[in-house]
Amino acid sequence: LFAGAADFIASAPNVPALPPMKGVEIAFAGRSNVGKSSLVNALTGRNTLARTSHTPGRTQQLNFFDIGGRLTLVDMPGYGYAAVEKTKVEAWTDLIHDYLKGRANLARVFMLIDSRHGLKSIDTDVLDGLDKAAVSYQVVLTKGDALKKSEIEARIEKTREALSKRPAAYPEILITSSRDDRGVPELRASVARLLAE
Ligand code: GDP
Repeated sequence: LFAGAADFIASAPNVPALPPMKGVEIAFAGRSNVGKSSLVNALTGRNTLARTSHTPGRTQQLNFFDIGGRLTLVDMPGYGYAAVEKTKVEAWTDLIHDYLKGRANLARVFMLIDSRHGLKSIDTDVLDGLDKAAVSYQVVLTKGDALKKSEIEARIEKTREALSKRPAAYPEILITSSRDDRGVPELRASVARLLAE
């Protein structure tokens, strides 16, 4: 799946700009600096993909990529960056809300959480929105290389507990690192299973 071509489709700053739905769609979300670009690049084996999303002007947009003609990958704008003013936060929330509401082919949102920090209140706000919209999501812990094994286990346990009463949460929590590639094959497998469904 990820061995084939990956092409930029579109950047959407608002709902009218969303590209037509095509195939199975997956989206990646997380706080700014969570390691989303690095993980998307590790997942797809392409350094250019998420760089596009870091291009000034495209950072507040949904960025769509075609993966092998069968999958659409959506890089969602990072949230929670302290310096962003309130109106921008509201614009982000509106865009995400409208996108999630109307996207019938969106199979799953991969919710990236920094394994060193765990779920922050802004993350739980986003999870609330996903639960409300009944959009399936899977938590992916990032930067697993920065923690000891015991710390990782404690983080997974705490996260599992926090997710236990959330209806749209997928039960499996992935622990990943784009530094040492851990969890990246498992993430690929998780995506591949969505295509097989
Ligand atoms: P984004 O803002 O979510 O797209 O995050 P980036 O991928 O740009 O990464 C943000 C920062 O985290 C950078 O300084 C990266 O070097 C660092 N980072 C990204 N992935 C990892 C990882 O797997 N392990 C560690 N230790 N640091 C990482």
